[in-house]
Amino acid sequence: MPTTNEKIRDALLRYFHFVETLTDRQLRQLEKVLMESVNDINDQITRLGLAGTNLNVWERTRLLTLREEIEKVLVATTFRMSDQIEDNFRQIAFTMTDEVNNILRASIPKDLIVMFNAVPLAQVIEFIDAPTGGLLWRDRMIQRYKSLLIPMDNIISRGIMQGWSVPQMVKEFKTLVGNEWKKGSWEQIIRTEVVRIGNAVNLATYKQNSDIIKGVQWLATLDFKTCFVCASLDGKFWELGTFDLYIPAHPRCRCILTPVTKSWRELGFDVDELPPGTRASMNGQVPSTMNYNQWFGTQSAFFQRNWLGNKRYELWKNGKLEFEDFLDSKKLLKQPK
Ligand SMILES: [Zn+2]
Repeated sequence: MPTTNEKIRDALLRYFHFVETLTDRQLRQLEKVLMESVNDINDQITRLGLAGTNLNVWERTRLLTLREEIEKVLVATTFRMSDQIEDNFRQIAFTMTDEVNNILRASIPKDLIVMFNAVPLAQVIEFIDAPTGGLLWRDRMIQRYKSLLIPMDNIISRGIMQGWSVPQMVKEFKTLVGNEWKKGSWEQIIRTEVVRIGNAVNLATYKQNSDIIKGVQWLATLDFKTCFVCASLDGKFWELGTFDLYIPAHPRCRCILTPVTKSWRELGFDVDELPPGTRASMNGQVPSTMNYNQWFGTQSAFFQRNWLGNKRYELWKNGKLEFEDFLDSKKLLKQPK
C-alpha cells in the first residue's frame, strides 16, 4: 500500500508525462507554422520578380525591399508562434493548477477534512511571463528568428548574383528554416518553459497549503539524459520555507517538485497512524524512492562509464569520489525572491 506522499508523487509524475505528450503535439504544430513561412517568402520573391536577374541599380533597391519583406514574414511568423505558445502555456498552467489540487484531494485520507486553496489565476498568469535565466521566452524566440536573418541575406545575395530561379531560391530558404528547427533551439525553449511553469504552479500550491504540506522533494528522471546536477539533487528534501533553488535547473531539465505532507502527529493528532484499513498511510515521511544514485549503481558498467566519463568513472569505481561530489553547486540558480 503506497503512502499518501507516494500516491501524490506517482500521480504527479504521470501528469507531467501527459503534459510532455501535449508538448510533443504542440511542437509539431509550431514546426508547421515555421515551415509555412517559406510559402510567404516564396510569394514575396515572386511578387518582386527578383530571382534569375542580373543586378542593376534598380534591382539592388528591390533586393533591399525583399530583405525587408522577408524580415516582416519572419517577424509575423514569430508572433504567430508566440501566440500559439502562449495559449498552450496558459492551458498547461490552468490545468496544472486544477490537476495538482485534484491529486492532493484524491491522495490525502478522507479522515482529514481539509480545504485546499488553489493558486489565484492572476498569479498563475504571472508564472507564464516570468523570465528564465534573465530572459522571457518571447525574447528567446525573437533571438531565434534574428539568428535566421544573416543566412537569409546570404541566400538572397547568392541567388541574385548567380541568377537562381524562384523555386531554387525558395528551396534554399526551406532548407535553412528546416535546419534551424532541427537544431532544437525552439523545442528547447518550449520544453524548458513547460517544466518551469508546471513547477511554479505546483510550488505555489504547496505554499498555499502549508498547513498540511511541510516540504518538497526533488525528482529527476532516471535515464541517460539526466545531468550531474539533477542526478545529485534527486530525492533530496527541503522544508517549504527553505527551498530556494531554481527549477528547471538548466535548459531541458525534466525535474519536478513533489510535495511531502505532514504526519498525523505534525498535524496535531495524538496518533502515529490511523487504524490500518484501506486508508493510505500519512506518515509525513519523504516517499521512499530509488534515487538516481541508487539507480545508477544498478546500471551496466558500460552505461556508468559513458555517463560519468572515463576519469570520473575510475574515481567513483575506486571509491575516491562519492556520487554527491559530481554536484557543482555553483551551477545552481537561486530562485528570484
Ligand atoms: Zn533536472
